[in-house]
Amino acid sequence: MAWFKSILIKFFSHLFSAKVQLPVTEREYLSDKWTASYVNEEPEYLASNRVYIVGNKTTHNFWYAYMVCPCGCEERIMLNLINDVEPKWKVSLNKGEDHASIYPSIWRNEGCESHFWIKNGNIVWA
Ligand SMILES: [Zn+2]
Repeated sequence: MAWFKSILIKFFSHLFSAKVQLPVTEREYLSDKWTASYVNEEPEYLASNRVYIVGNKTTHNFWYAYMVCPCGCEERIMLNLINDVEPKWKVSLNKGEDHASIYPSIWRNEGCESHFWIKNGNIVWA
């Protein structure tokens, strides 16, 4: 019965490793307002709907931004914010509400290959 067991294991590991692309309605549900917080180093845990900016808020030197992919795949996204390094992104916050905008769009070249904008805290799928 060893062959049967190994087929079963293969079947289940395939089931659990399959990445599911969420339907549009659920994507919209997940994309509640995104805010940003400043941190000193890469966070171990990333909350959803939050962009973590690593850098010095007072000197306005920012290095990286981290966020979890908004598609639901839970992959960690790292964005370069350093001016001299390509590709680079810019994170801005609108005053008062701390809703984040990121420019330009984020297009993952692996995994879920999600392509989206963050504008005033909203995910806009490209
Ligand atoms: Zn994703």
